[in-house]
Amino acid sequence: MSAGGPIDDGIGRKVAHVLRGRQTRDHACHWPGCKRQVPPALWGCAKHWRLLPPELRRRVWATYRPGQESDGRPSRDYLEVARAIQEWIAANHPPAAAPAQGALF
Ligand SMILES: [Zn+2]
Repeated sequence: MSAGGPIDDGIGRKVAHVLRGRQTRDHACHWPGCKRQVPPALWGCAKHWRLLPPELRRRVWATYRPGQESDGRPSRDYLEVARAIQEWIAANHPPAAAPAQGALF
């Protein structure tokens, strides 16, 4: 459905918009179980964002529309990517496989 569209359209403006994003309301990282607060323009915290495959991150940028976090109307394509990310996390980082935080430090 979303194949073939111009995916790099306005990426620079989007990046600038997101990097300017402030913590305007309660909004946590979308990684399951992560409670870290991130600006609504961001998908999640830096640590979890970097765990995502480059292809998924690219698709987030491609489908993100500046301002969607304010009007609450992300595109259908963005929601598709968001769901794909949750599926990827469930398949590659199941909660049971995560090491106990306390054991690491
Ligand atoms: Zn996180």
